[in-house]
Amino acid sequence: MDEQDRRAAGERARELQPVLAARGVVSVAVTWVDNSGITRVKAVPLTKLDSAAAWGIGASPVFDSFLFNDLPITGEHAPGVVGDLRLHPDLEQLTVLAAQPGWALAPADRYDQQGNPHPQDQRTLARKATEALAELGFTAKVAIEVEWVIGRPDTEDFSAAVRGPAYGMARLVERSDYLRDLVTALADQGVELDQIHPEYAGGQFELSVGAADPVRAADTYVLVRETIRAVSSRHELRASFSPKVVADGVGNGGHIHLSVWDGQRNLFAGGSGPVGLTATAESFTAGILGRLPALLAVGAPSVASYLRLIPQHWAGAFAAWGLENRETALRMVTGPVGNQASAANLEVKCFDQTANPYLAIAALLFAGLAGIAEDAKLPEPVDVDPATLGTKELLRHGIRPLPASLAESVAAFEADQALTEAFGVELASTMVDVRKGEIAHFATASPEQVAAELRWVH
Ligand code: GLU
Ligand code: MG
Repeated sequence: MDEQDRRAAGERARELQPVLAARGVVSVAVTWVDNSGITRVKAVPLTKLDSAAAWGIGASPVFDSFLFNDLPITGEHAPGVVGDLRLHPDLEQLTVLAAQPGWALAPADRYDQQGNPHPQDQRTLARKATEALAELGFTAKVAIEVEWVIGRPDTEDFSAAVRGPAYGMARLVERSDYLRDLVTALADQGVELDQIHPEYAGGQFELSVGAADPVRAADTYVLVRETIRAVSSRHELRASFSPKVVADGVGNGGHIHLSVWDGQRNLFAGGSGPVGLTATAESFTAGILGRLPALLAVGAPSVASYLRLIPQHWAGAFAAWGLENRETALRMVTGPVGNQASAANLEVKCFDQTANPYLAIAALLFAGLAGIAEDAKLPEPVDVDPATLGTKELLRHGIRPLPASLAESVAAFEADQALTEAFGVELASTMVDVRKGEIAHFATASPEQVAAELRWVH
């Protein structure tokens, strides 16, 4: 970002200021997501948006070192309290918030004072992954599904704030004003909502949104989560996105859907490979499948993630893929006949919402790209629940259970050259140090303690 870019950004903000003022905006929240998956923010009054766009908003680099409980870790590349980064709001993604009158939100890219991108900036990494895909002539379409539970606001414990069975109409009726306000807020913010419904666990709902380019999909995810939080708060509810709200229940996933496109052609449909995959989509998927243990250090990055990743909880706890199989980590979706060319995609089920969405999407794209470079092939698809197979059968199909702990995933990530190189040494090592800090923090904790400490954080 040179001086000319900065002045141009300031100019663009000056054009926006009266438009936003006319829409009642007085303040702009400028967000980024840290390595623990927490959205952090600094805000400026609308009158200072031009200076924020041009020169950035000062923020300490130490946030990269934060654990989920705000304690910073130390590490070889872990930033400390000395130094300054600049948060540059992405004005193209600025959204007027419907459930927080007077507020707008813009995701930030982080630069240093010289205008160089911060090497540990997660959103920048997602953009790099998109560019690496573009070098092969491809684009990706991505969407993150959001599951959450609503609880009562006056307790740290979880007590479901809606009754009724899984997918039960009763649940929708009891909270229809809440859900209406959410649907309205998302529509006012220009979010393309696909579906919204009560999910399996007590007090749980889910919504899905239309696919977008990788960075935009992560931005949308952040916006959706904060909108759910804001609407919940207006209804005197508390939302939890934790992978394990209570230690023995079904968790909240953060499933990621993705497809790779060559111009207007979806490479996940109309090919001659298994379930209609093209050779590129097969290799891309195989690259992800082969790297799932390492990818979990990014996409299932908390100690609580491993309380969720258990068989027969629809979390996809086996390193395997299958057509519409909800118990394999990778679920291939072809869509209905007639709509496959647009609908076919890969769903990564084993990820959850303690993940930084920018890192999670970047890691998947880099793993897929490594698969393309290796011309990787998929094993046979799995068409049963792997938990019903004996050890011999699992072995015969080449199905492995996913890592049972964060420590195992982190070790796999550290050993994965393609991913660590793509992340760059600074970001890779800080992310690993943050994971190790969380592992140490919970070394002697019971599942109940882990669930309780992470319940309301994300
Ligand atoms: N709640 C499940 C999970 O933890 C997912 C349910 C579903 O398939 O949507 O991932
Ligand atoms: Mg679901």
